[in-house]
Amino acid sequence: MTDAFDVGVVGAGSGGIGAALAAARLDARVLLVEKADSLGGNATRGGVHCWERGAGGTGIPFDLYRRLKQIPGAVGIYTPARHLAYPEPGEPVFPGGENRLDAQRTYLDTLRCFGGGSYRNREFTRTHWHGVLFDPAVYARTVHAMLEETGRITLWLNTTFTRAETHGRRMERVHFDNGQSVRATHWIDATADIYLAHAVGCATRTGQEGVDVYGEPGAPAQDNDRLNATTLIYRVTPKPQAGIEPLPADIPATCWWAGQFPCAAVNEYPNGDLNINMLPTMEGGES
Ligand SMILES: Cc1cc2nc3c(=O)[nH]c(=O)nc-3n(C[C@H](O)[C@H](O)[C@H](O)COP(=O)(O)OP(=O)(O)OC[C@H]3O[C@@H](n4cnc5c(N)ncnc54)[C@H](O)[C@@H]3O)c2cc1C
Repeated sequence: MTDAFDVGVVGAGSGGIGAALAAARLDARVLLVEKADSLGGNATRGGVHCWERGAGGTGIPFDLYRRLKQIPGAVGIYTPARHLAYPEPGEPVFPGGENRLDAQRTYLDTLRCFGGGSYRNREFTRTHWHGVLFDPAVYARTVHAMLEETGRITLWLNTTFTRAETHGRRMERVHFDNGQSVRATHWIDATADIYLAHAVGCATRTGQEGVDVYGEPGAPAQDNDRLNATTLIYRVTPKPQAGIEPLPADIPATCWWAGQFPCAAVNEYPNGDLNINMLPTMEGGES
């Protein structure tokens, strides 16, 4: 096996998969290294089996979507359904927000969320907020096939980046816990936790940038160290007699995020199971 590549990618979540595919399709020889035993990162092992509205786009995501679409039960498009903010007359209040598969919708609909509009605006969300829901295991298998068919990607699963040798500002060699060390002309840190960048002394930052940095309208006034809070995600299989009980009266008052967001985000899997993300169960600006 060669120990020299054009591009080395560490981490095979959504970011690393996209980077490796894009490089290989440009004829680069790529090494893709993932510490887990499967591909996909958050999108498969983390329970995030969803591309939110506008998150997919064209190019590699659309290619992946089209392949999944050929496989029964692999993928679908959602439309927002019940929501705490707009109870149905005569129905108990739904304790969160729910996205349900909608056979009427197409991939193009997922690219149509533009302009403003809050989740509290029922008509706006139902007409504009569509995203992609997929089965994680099929997603991982399909991505594997896409990587393989390039013929340019060496994939190491169950392999963790351990350290890098540098010479001045150049990375000479990168070491992995399988005992191998590798050279590459370019390295991409797709670990999500910036392990590679840290190891070679790159400037990094976590948290939110203040609005002055990129001018994003939703940015805070000042930099801060806030991260997504850790959340619990469950996959549940509905039973015919199952029902969701109304939220106990004391929950909204004690729930740390209740003023801003409903209590659970519920997404449907293509086989009808539900993905329940208990968004506000753990308070924090950490993980
Ligand atoms: C609770 C939650 C809900 C979310 N909901 C959505 C959603 O509904 N829709 C949406 O579009 N986005 C959502 N996101 C965001 C989305 O999950 C991330 O933006 C996306 O997964 C980031 O992809 P990534 O490839 O950068 O990181 P990851 O998916 O985290 O992949 C990083 C990979 O690197 C590997 N790795 C780490 N360290 C090493 C190492 N030293 N050596 C080798 N490999 C290593 C990890 O095992 C992992 O596979 C959500 C995120 C969270 C946490």
